[in-house]
Amino acid sequence: DRFSESKVYLRALFDYTPYEDKATPCQEAGLPFTCGDILQVVSQDDPTWWQAKRVGDSNLRAGLVPSRQFQERRLLYRMKMGTHQSPKSPRATPCEQSCEKAGLRRSFRLSRKDHQDSTKESHLAESAENEFLIYEEVTLHQMRPQDKPRLVVLIGSLGARINELKQKVIAENPHRYGVAVPHTTRPRKSHEKEGVEYHFISKQAFEADIQSNKFIEHGEYKNNQYGTSLESIRSVLARNKVCLVDVQPEALKVLRTAEFKPYVVFVKPRIPEICRQRSSPTSPGRGDNGHITNEDLQDMRQSAEQMDQQYGHLVDRVLVKEDSASACVELRNILERLEREPQWVPVSWVR
Ligand code: 5GP
Repeated sequence: DRFSESKVYLRALFDYTPYEDKATPCQEAGLPFTCGDILQVVSQDDPTWWQAKRVGDSNLRAGLVPSRQFQERRLLYRMKMGTHQSPKSPRATPCEQSCEKAGLRRSFRLSRKDHQDSTKESHLAESAENEFLIYEEVTLHQMRPQDKPRLVVLIGSLGARINELKQKVIAENPHRYGVAVPHTTRPRKSHEKEGVEYHFISKQAFEADIQSNKFIEHGEYKNNQYGTSLESIRSVLARNKVCLVDVQPEALKVLRTAEFKPYVVFVKPRIPEICRQRSSPTSPGRGDNGHITNEDLQDMRQSAEQMDQQYGHLVDRVLVKEDSASACVELRNILERLEREPQWVPVSWVR
């Protein structure tokens, strides 16, 4: 039948709860979904309500989902009613809070032109830069042997220690996985080799590289500059290795291209409900001897929540980290599956 032949697949970029949606013509007919779900669109005949199935669902019946145009229009309306605060703000604005209540979390937040399939309707948005995160058209992509490996981006909330995780996985299999060699302005130590630990460059050269946007990220440490360049990532991929980077999630703005096809793993530490150790009476933050306090746990929860809110729609896989050893095993499994199994990617990456 024509339903099963639909070739339009969308990644949902927001959570949808039909039972909380007053606009739906029929709550029972609605299809609930959460951010990251893949929807097979069966009918776009109606301009307001599309019919879709969730990929992986055993339920064969299609349900109603808001069309992109309708969703965009009502979010724009709510934004105008709610607040003039910029959607760039990481804190939930009153409008976002009301979106959350309506089951429309993450409904508008700044995104670059990476949702190209949605640019048609973007004239509805107030400025070309502010686009609503609604759906992203995706396709199932199988890597061919001649394809360059995908870039793997690790992002982590407070306490995830993604650098350590990255180093471990690479050290276990240095032929398959590689690290982008960073640049630094600090002097080379006698045991270090140019291009192995770092590329050692002058402060002037570093400054020039910043100006010409060569770095995906850079920072200062003890009066020296450190940074990771796009070129250093390309050079790992060119050697046919999976390149692992741990970056601030803002770097995804630059990395999310057809060239890198980044696979994003969000490492989230498992956070216990309450901590066993008592909080130190002298320091309200970190306890004595580096013991974790309830305040630390609260910060970790907040960090994970904020990361989820701001970047959840860009994440392919969440890795809940119990401890360093098990996280390492799990990351390795994720990486092996990534090379073997087809993955959903934005259509713009493969066209
Ligand atoms: P070291 O000079 O001992 O090799 O590194 C000192 C510190 O520089 C590291 O602990 C890390 O915080 C920082 N660093 C090393 N590589 C990079 C990088 O690529 N980017 C940034 N922002 N910092 C780095």
